[in-house]
Amino acid sequence: MLKVGLTGGIGSGKTEVARRLAERGAMVIDADQIAREVVEPGTEGLARVVAAFGEEMLTESGTLNRERLGSVVFADPERLATLNGIVHPLVGERVAALQAAAPDDAIVVYDVPLLAENGLSRMYDAVIVVDASDEVRLERLVRVRGMSEADAKARMAAQATREARLALADHVVPNEGSLADLEARVGEIWAALRRQAAERA
Ligand code: ATP
Repeated sequence: MLKVGLTGGIGSGKTEVARRLAERGAMVIDADQIAREVVEPGTEGLARVVAAFGEEMLTESGTLNRERLGSVVFADPERLATLNGIVHPLVGERVAALQAAAPDDAIVVYDVPLLAENGLSRMYDAVIVVDASDEVRLERLVRVRGMSEADAKARMAAQATREARLALADHVVPNEGSLADLEARVGEIWAALRRQAAERA
């Protein structure tokens, strides 16, 4: 199994790259998505969140009220640690199960937004960094995703710099052009990953 870390700043295009790698045969593991799945209605995770934070963390339809939970945990590091103590092990179990089910020749791509921030590059056989200027990412977040400019800027400022991320890259996907350019670059990187996986086999 070849383990590939995929990272990039908010709005850089990680999701677009991950989708194209999946189309080519990669097994994509998105920890943020799994973190949402482990607290879906009916899960042990949601029951534990409610036990720790109260029924008021549920919406009327019984799903997790993320906005309310977010305003509680981001104002209080201890409560954030409590939430992480519930969610992280469940995510870890799920990731381990997905990995165990992957065939030996699988190319597994981990979508890790905070790979640089958390110093995780050594966990992977290769690191892909999706790169775009702050201006381009801000424009995408505001225009395409409807985020406020202040919110988008604050999130970008809380993340690692482009330089810090690029320093970790084995493969860079520059993403300031068209999605067709992105597609072509992903094709090149996929070929390189296939070669790397074959050399190890
Ligand atoms: P986040 O960190 O918030 O998860 P991300 O890195 O996964 O973001 P995407 O969701 O892939 O970023 O891209 C952000 C938005 O910009 C999406 O709506 C996406 O479709 C759009 N986008 C990404 N790349 C391009 C491009 N080259 N041309 C046009 N739109 C793009």
